[in-house]
Amino acid sequence: MLGQMQDWPLRVSRIIDHAARYHARRPVVTRTVEGPVARTDWASIHLRARKLAQALARLGLRKGDVVGCMAWNTARHLEVWYGVPGAGGVLHSLNPRLSHEQLTYIISHAEDGWIFCDADLAPLIAELWPGLPQAKGCIVMTDRAHMPETAPPGALCYEELIAAEDGGADWVTGDEAEACGICYTSGTTGHPKGVVYSHRSNVLHAMAMIQPDMLGFSSNDTVMPVVPLFHANGWSTGFSAPMAGASMVMPGRDLSAPSLWEMLDEGVTITLAVPTVWLMLLAHLRETGRALPHLQRVVIGGSACPKAVIEAFQKVYGVHVLHAWGMTETSPLGSFCSFKPEMAALPDDERLDQQLKAGHPPFTVELAVMDEGDEPMPWDDTSQGRLKIRGPGVVKRYLKETNDVADRESWFDTGDAATMDENGYIRITDRLKDVIKSGGEWISSIDLENMAVSHPDVSEAAAIGVPHPKWDERPILVVVPRPGAEPSKESIIETLRPHFAKWMLPDDILFVEEIPHTATGKISKLTLRKQLAEQGYTLPG
Ligand code: AMP
Repeated sequence: MLGQMQDWPLRVSRIIDHAARYHARRPVVTRTVEGPVARTDWASIHLRARKLAQALARLGLRKGDVVGCMAWNTARHLEVWYGVPGAGGVLHSLNPRLSHEQLTYIISHAEDGWIFCDADLAPLIAELWPGLPQAKGCIVMTDRAHMPETAPPGALCYEELIAAEDGGADWVTGDEAEACGICYTSGTTGHPKGVVYSHRSNVLHAMAMIQPDMLGFSSNDTVMPVVPLFHANGWSTGFSAPMAGASMVMPGRDLSAPSLWEMLDEGVTITLAVPTVWLMLLAHLRETGRALPHLQRVVIGGSACPKAVIEAFQKVYGVHVLHAWGMTETSPLGSFCSFKPEMAALPDDERLDQQLKAGHPPFTVELAVMDEGDEPMPWDDTSQGRLKIRGPGVVKRYLKETNDVADRESWFDTGDAATMDENGYIRITDRLKDVIKSGGEWISSIDLENMAVSHPDVSEAAAIGVPHPKWDERPILVVVPRPGAEPSKESIIETLRPHFAKWMLPDDILFVEEIPHTATGKISKLTLRKQLAEQGYTLPG
């Protein structure tokens, strides 16, 4: 016997319909690319997304067509976020920080036809244009007065397209399994790979994310995604915030600490970004003596969260830290370090240590730590293995690949090394390729980095393995001192010493002005290793 309930395909258009109907006047505040702060709400974003969908239909967009979008976090980007899938298209988010070569590759590989871009990014799209023969045209997300001088030939003006429509047409409907969006992986080796989200996977993922143990958004929240919408599906915020009826603050292009602080002052209660952003903001707060009067929670993920950052937010500013783990292939969020009763009962300092874990998964995500033979490892908080994941928001196969990337039991190998504790909390110990292998043992680069940045004069640190004739590899630490500070190697080793076995301590510490980062703001160990090799670096003595 089948159930006799209604058929209600889980399509993302329903999210913006819901926000516009029941949370119509919740503000969405943007630092616009043109400069001033602009205010709108869900009702208006919904209407304009409908108009955009009509305009795209008029331009000949057909169901399943891929549409590129290179834009900062703004209200207009949210309109495109819904307008494109609402017109039956598949939105391919483009990271402007990728190299020209990578951008040309992914835009061609995904076969982007129409391409949206912010006005300041139009010159970049224009440069790429000759290498994009499949592109149909470019739509610049601004008004006529701000149309850039340099743009692809025949570029259209977004506001003119919107103004010509009435928003009266219905969304394109269809099966919830249809493609909705594409994000490419950061691809440190080989070509980036396309992850194709479905309407269903995005809706289910957002529903999982707004649960209290996860992002926990409600209509009383004001959400500011500092993480760009083009990075890993925008950490679901473009879907989960309107689903919960939350307000949003969109920080635009300027992600400097003073600009972020000003936008946080718009009443933001919860904000999300990678640790480097928070290191920068905390330094700014220290220098200026500014506080965070509205902020209640900060979500930190994308790379390991240093203890010093958690401590500063919680103890100095009274802002609760949610450490999260995820990846482009997993929609992206897979776990949150929220407090189950066992953790809530711990003394403050012990709980702080536990917050270095990436936490536990929501319903719809299954996590397992497995050994090389694919056997589950004990939940003992110490056995390290491969982190695997499965669920309706996890990739099965990359775009245009012929083989599944998930195994027969649907497990996707994340490439991360992790442990699992008795309460089901994972601790990410490393990327498997970044683990430092010394004398047959594993040293976690993340643990070394975390402890190094707890030194008062260290602003950022990267631990990498350098080849060693006897031990295979030995760890070294590359350190960026705080501005004006000159920490000694010995003082950094002394900070590490109580927390590591002797053989785990770095053989050398190098001081640099800057550590290279990837297009998504993570430390690029690949570039760092290359730089050291080019400089002919060798281990001391
Ligand atoms: P991306 O697909 O670019 O978001 O990268 C995903 C990768 O980022 C994961 O496989 C992890 O290696 C890393 N990552 C994400 N969150 C964390 C975290 N909380 N701790 C450590 N690594 C993380």
